[in-house]
Amino acid sequence: MSLQLNVPADNSFHPGRPGTGELVPSRYALKIGEIDVMVVSDGVLPLPTKMLGHNADPTVRARWMANQFLPSDAFDWPLNAVVVRSGEQIILLDAGLGLDPDLNLPRAGQLIKRLEAADIDLTSVTDLVLTHLHMDHIGGLLVEGVKEKLRPDLRIHVASAEAKFWEDPDFTYTKMPEGFPDALRATAKRFLSEYRSHLRLFDDEQQVAPGVVARRTGGHTPGHCVIRIASGSDALTFAGDAVFAVGFDQPDWHNGFEHDPEEAARVRINLLRTLSESGELLVATHLPFPSVGRVAAAGDAFRWVPVFWDY
Ligand SMILES: [Zn+2]
Repeated sequence: MSLQLNVPADNSFHPGRPGTGELVPSRYALKIGEIDVMVVSDGVLPLPTKMLGHNADPTVRARWMANQFLPSDAFDWPLNAVVVRSGEQIILLDAGLGLDPDLNLPRAGQLIKRLEAADIDLTSVTDLVLTHLHMDHIGGLLVEGVKEKLRPDLRIHVASAEAKFWEDPDFTYTKMPEGFPDALRATAKRFLSEYRSHLRLFDDEQQVAPGVVARRTGGHTPGHCVIRIASGSDALTFAGDAVFAVGFDQPDWHNGFEHDPEEAARVRINLLRTLSESGELLVATHLPFPSVGRVAAAGDAFRWVPVFWDY
């Protein structure tokens, strides 16, 4: 099965000389009080544009895409994961798409390689928090050789509703391209069987480390969670798939990967409203790298305000 869509295969560019190093930065580090945070790009994943708002009028959706200078058929979704160091713990938030060659999505699945390039040894990871069990968030754990490198006492924090959902998942309200439901089902099933002994299930909220709290939101999937990192007067929320690039302008558009799209829209609007009031930082899986910014209220909707890079 191939999930490859109609997009360019390679955008690497080496002026002056051939090279294998990456010229586009793939990691961005910041401090939240005493806690170290690093966003790491897993690459990009091409998806059809109608996935962004399958309940929207196609002409309105096409106008939004044109206003963003994005192609009308398919475009590259960014994929981000986050590494957090709090006290003695190193916590990975989500694990990227992985490298399953059958998916034919070779521009994603870069996370493991990029963690190594950032001198983050997999054996140093004490905890993993999974926002949900879609394959673009867990696939990195299924890359050959990864499980062997992870610590035998690695704790994987997942909402219990999420683990339960994937035993018999319901795709009634999703609108995914062909092949995706089967791939998602198979990947979640394989993850649950390979990593079951590592799971630390929680109901609504779990403190993973000092200042690092996972909170179940549901919506996107029944056990979807967000992770808030807070220290001193700083705070950052990693929102997983609670918000996509279109979600600021059009928070009530239904994303094709949402298993309960109406609940997902409520979760998104609540989260964006809370962040617009607090001014706390937001990072989300599918916002453009490095995906660090704030949310402003804009009439009935919101506005994404990326931070200025801090060099
Ligand atoms: Zn996702």
